[in-house]
Amino acid sequence: MSSAPLDLHDLTRAELTARIEAWGFSPVHGARLWNYLYYEGVDDLAAMTGLPARLRARLEAETAPGRLPVARETRSSDGFTRKYLLALADGHRIETVLMRYTGRVTACVSSQVGCAMGCVFCATGQMGYTRHLTAGEIVAQAVHVDRVLRATAAESPALAEPDAASPHHRHERLRNIVFMGMGEPLHNYDAVMKAIDILRDPAGLALGARKISVSTVGVAPGIVRLADENRPMHLAVSLHGATQAERLALVPAARAWPLDQLMDACRYYTAKLGRRIFFEWTLIDGKNDGPDQAHAVGALLRGIPAQVNLIPLNPTSGYDGAPGRGAAARRFQEILAGHGLPSTVRQRRGIDIGAGCGQLAVAGG
Ligand code: SAH
Ligand code: SF4
Repeated sequence: MSSAPLDLHDLTRAELTARIEAWGFSPVHGARLWNYLYYEGVDDLAAMTGLPARLRARLEAETAPGRLPVARETRSSDGFTRKYLLALADGHRIETVLMRYTGRVTACVSSQVGCAMGCVFCATGQMGYTRHLTAGEIVAQAVHVDRVLRATAAESPALAEPDAASPHHRHERLRNIVFMGMGEPLHNYDAVMKAIDILRDPAGLALGARKISVSTVGVAPGIVRLADENRPMHLAVSLHGATQAERLALVPAARAWPLDQLMDACRYYTAKLGRRIFFEWTLIDGKNDGPDQAHAVGALLRGIPAQVNLIPLNPTSGYDGAPGRGAAARRFQEILAGHGLPSTVRQRRGIDIGAGCGQLAVAGG
């Protein structure tokens, strides 16, 4: 018998069913358990009365509840963003953010405790790397957000929006996931991909592949692997500098994966999958928000199907840069448009509670 309890969220539906069969139960109960976990949103084994009592007893003895207790919840003053500090079983903590935009709810999930990449302007980078998250710990963040939406619907049924696309869901559903919380997802490739497989399962949370975005600092071999494995999610690549020297000053990981290699990987990806890449560019006043840089981005991305997401710098204690100004952002966008590059400026959400991009950090890990 293994000593560590099994995390139910760490298993795909096939793995869960195989486990239940190996215990001598019908695979039907695997499907039922999956339904409880992801469709009914039940997290209490005792409440899963549709399962045989002997199976429930075995699950209680050998599996973990798969919950991430909320150590702290912070709500933004505009009411659109909630940031959750969630406790992992080993005592480490991570942050997950629920963001409401008109008509959609997005969860911004973490892939690691801390981050090894050390981008100078990022609070997670400033705290350093502790460990990878398991697939189950990633899935549990999405399940947590889904549960918050269910609870909201239960508190105020009149306000609950039934899901038009899937009316049998009686509450507003989690539709979008972005891997833009703490950590570098392609540094934890296997767990992130497994988590995505679980989140996409049509009998579970059923997230659409195109509603999931993986954002990478530019781990070139990981981008090649996504292409080779034909992974259907969106890919966002954090660029921030259009020359190796300028990028390296902000993104130390550019030493391991230089800009030329990164761009080769991006070309390989777009050619192989026939899909565009989103490039993220944190706008730092007077540093990378000038017309020259905008032209350099245009030249760098020539021939690559791309869209640029401009993110005005969010404040972090370890970096004293200022956000690019509105006028500079607009000029930047015009120049990109002149190069045939569509772009957006990220809507600011949750800045007052430190839940914006790059503001996630947990004191002491
Ligand atoms: N590690 C991944 C994903 C997490 S960070 C990555 O780096 O892509 C998500 C996005 O927030 C990245 O584009 C990152 O560069 C950006 N970011 C980090 N710190 C920021 C800050 N202080 N202000 C604005 N954007 C920031
Ligand atoms: Fe890590 Fe991304 Fe932050 Fe860089 S920006 S330190 S890769 S989380």
